[in-house]
Amino acid sequence: MQFNKQLSKIKTYEGGKPIELVVREFGIKPENIIKLASNENPYGTSPKVVQTIIDHALEVYMYPDDSMQEIKDALASKFNVNTNNIIMGAGSDQVISFAINAKANKYKKVLTARTTFAMYNIYAKQIGAKVVTTSSHQHNLDELYNLYKKEQDIGIIFLCLPNNPLGESLDKDDVYDFISKIDENTMVVVDGAYQDFAKAKDPKKGIDPSDLISKFPNTLYLGTFSKAYGLGGLRVGYGIANEEIMNALYKMRPPFNVTTLSLKAAVAALKDEDFVQKTINNNFQEMKKYEEFAKKHEIDFIDSYTNFITLLFNKSRNSTQIANLLLKKGIIIRDLQSYGVNGIRVTIGTPEQNQRFFEQFQLLL
Ligand SMILES: *Cc1c(COP(=O)(O)O)cnc(C)c1O
Repeated sequence: MQFNKQLSKIKTYEGGKPIELVVREFGIKPENIIKLASNENPYGTSPKVVQTIIDHALEVYMYPDDSMQEIKDALASKFNVNTNNIIMGAGSDQVISFAINAKANKYKKVLTARTTFAMYNIYAKQIGAKVVTTSSHQHNLDELYNLYKKEQDIGIIFLCLPNNPLGESLDKDDVYDFISKIDENTMVVVDGAYQDFAKAKDPKKGIDPSDLISKFPNTLYLGTFSKAYGLGGLRVGYGIANEEIMNALYKMRPPFNVTTLSLKAAVAALKDEDFVQKTINNNFQEMKKYEEFAKKHEIDFIDSYTNFITLLFNKSRNSTQIANLLLKKGIIIRDLQSYGVNGIRVTIGTPEQNQRFFEQFQLLL
């Protein structure tokens, strides 16, 4: 069968390998497998979220409240914006697709850093839009600006701050300088999936959605419940922008795109700030151990503002080989070879999980 020809250019998204697959392939017991591959919360989710899901389980026969008022009210008060500045998505992933559908096409390109979140590229190619990337792997604002000027037909720019899968971030002031030079007809998306972590490590890296959209009417801020809030399995994310952008994004939204239990869980998750704080504290305490480990073994790493760390290998090591050897020991991490990077991305786990990673990894060095 022949399919639309742009599909031939898409590499199917490959997520972190699920635990079940390692059970099946290597016969390892599930309790002996640790997954540090998808930047999930190693502490799971707040017990309050679990209770909320149980409390609302009997409501699943009804369609969700499509106005999503309760979660929008909660987000509006958290971020000091209006509820009509908010759109919910089945993960912020879905909001990325709304934005690309609204601003890119065969003639309007997408601009990103070279090594960044894979979905910008996949959604762009689905609709036949070209993706222009910098030659630097990490975000380089000068390079992004030069490409923006040179290409002339950029419809939408993605800044992933902090960046997945590399972990770097940019100072708010530099980001604002950059955006102020971009034409108001070009949308600038700030993907803040890891902003909770970035802000905590260095306030200069913090980008406040309310401030961003009031200063720059052409911006869209993205947030997710999948990382610090531990709701990856429920698929809840959001976009924040001015009403003009919202009107356009809402035209792309399928009805009932976020489930009843997901919406209830997200509201509960926002209320348990202690859980998120504990997550963030653990993250940076444990990240230090990774940095020390890397230094001790002379492995390069990228200073990370997220809940993962990216280790970079020199030619004497091959990241794919290392990832496969770790997998056989029941440790799932992310090989970055498909991004053209000889390195691995490791989600910061609990102290016990990290200890197991260090022990097993050390045996391979
Ligand atoms: C995880 C992630 C998202 C979105 O995740 P969802 O689960 O779809 O909300 C978006 N951007 C980046 C950079 C991410 O790492």
